[in-house]
Amino acid sequence: MTDYGVVVVGAGISGLLSALALSKEGKRVLVLEKENFLGGVCRSYEVEGYPGYWVDTGVHALTRLERGPLRELMNRYFDPAVLPRFVPFGTYYVRIGGRTKPFPWSVKDWLMFDLLPTKDRLLLMKSLFNVLYLSSVGKDLSAVPISAILPAKLSAKGRRFLDWLSYFMLGTSAENAPVSRFIDNKNHKPNSIPYIGKIYNLLISEGARDQGYPEGGLQSLLGSLLKSFPKNRVEVKTGEEVVKINSEREVAEVVTRAGSYSCEAVVYSGPASSLPDLVEIEGGELPGEYVENLRSIRAVNSLTIWLGLTRKIFKNRGSEMWVDSDPYAWVVPTSNYDPKLAPHGRQLVGFTFSLPESEGYKANAKANAKANAERERRRERRKAFDAILKTVPGIERAVEMVHCQELVPEKACWAINAGFGDVRTPVKNLYTVGTDAEKRSAGISRAAYSVLRFLEVLRADKIL
Ligand SMILES: Cc1cc2nc3c(=O)[nH]c(=O)nc-3n(C[C@H](O)[C@H](O)[C@H](O)COP(=O)(O)OP(=O)(O)OC[C@H]3O[C@@H](n4cnc5c(N)ncnc54)[C@H](O)[C@@H]3O)c2cc1C
Repeated sequence: MTDYGVVVVGAGISGLLSALALSKEGKRVLVLEKENFLGGVCRSYEVEGYPGYWVDTGVHALTRLERGPLRELMNRYFDPAVLPRFVPFGTYYVRIGGRTKPFPWSVKDWLMFDLLPTKDRLLLMKSLFNVLYLSSVGKDLSAVPISAILPAKLSAKGRRFLDWLSYFMLGTSAENAPVSRFIDNKNHKPNSIPYIGKIYNLLISEGARDQGYPEGGLQSLLGSLLKSFPKNRVEVKTGEEVVKINSEREVAEVVTRAGSYSCEAVVYSGPASSLPDLVEIEGGELPGEYVENLRSIRAVNSLTIWLGLTRKIFKNRGSEMWVDSDPYAWVVPTSNYDPKLAPHGRQLVGFTFSLPESEGYKANAKANAKANAERERRRERRKAFDAILKTVPGIERAVEMVHCQELVPEKACWAINAGFGDVRTPVKNLYTVGTDAEKRSAGISRAAYSVLRFLEVLRADKIL
């Protein structure tokens, strides 16, 4: 007899969605979270010292809300009386050279998109058709970087645009991003650029309702999820870091500094790259190849600067993609979606930048590598502030609140020569979920896909 049916390690969105689904399917679940809060990088909080400013963990657009994996989980397991309400996300505006235009998602818009030189637009169209041809004759494009298919005559502006897109969609540069990740022949609309359904799925045109922002911020999605837990079937413990997972044949034991818990199965939602440090298997060890793959996973790093403004500077309904700022930025005025996220008459805006990878930030980094990484981060933060001041002259006169976050949006980026985890592990009663366990989509949709697959695998294994 075990203490619990399933122990879920980590209370981010993927761990909590797993706990909800398992409990609704009749399992007794324990969730162990090392922090003193729930939600991981999917939550909101009031900024200390600035009452009335409610920031999310990074700027968010929730994708595929009509038919995607999160919707499927909400339909199946959320209490209908407490479903979150979503506000349409609006247009993605591209900012280049001080001008903004909606993202060109159709061939017609692409040809009119004069933020890039005409020659660049024609060259990029040509490259796209080349890729299409290569794909149709069965060429494997999973190890070909986007940078390798760019025409030699493309201007620096055109290259930067593609590099921006690559960071935005995949969390890595055009040198590291595989072409295959951009190609998708299933979902494209008749008037979209052929075979870039994946781009279409991420970037909406005006009027599309598939992407949204949760009214009340990310916290309202988290709140709905937690309120949907069935009574007495889910126990959640915060401030309990899991330090060991022992697996025997039929029973697993999950160990924290406060105690140990036995269960039929464990689902781990922390970084898969740390899993080999936690797992102990009776009479054996994890296969070397598996460990090597997990160790080569590359996480995505980000910096978000939140500004509280005394007047409304960002007037568009939607977000801005700053292609020529250094570093690149994605700007979302969240109080335009829900004014209650800022004090009356104020505007709350999040600027998310991608941060370069750094060995010094890995858990096992040496002390001098950590110190170097810290210096590098301070430099990046200064650069990011300067980019805001340069792009919006005079903004500093309206700033009354500044709040910075350095967070990992995805625990694995889908890059060339980088590892990726999987829901299944070589250990019989141990599974993983989260953004490094499933390659489909990105962000919360990817986390939700991992949970759907986890449930499928549990059914196949007769645990559900
Ligand atoms: C800046 C930024 C912008 C983003 N923009 C978008 C967007 O526009 N659209 C979108 O869909 N998504 C976006 N995301 C991504 C999305 O928020 C994440 O992909 C998602 O929330 C990840 O969920 P997760 O459960 O996989 O991981 P996490 O949230 O990282 O959860 C893992 C949890 O496990 C806990 N944990 C780890 N190790 C242990 C241990 N040993 N013991 C106990 N607990 C442990 C952690 O503390 C954490 O709570 C963004 C994220 C950021 C940071």
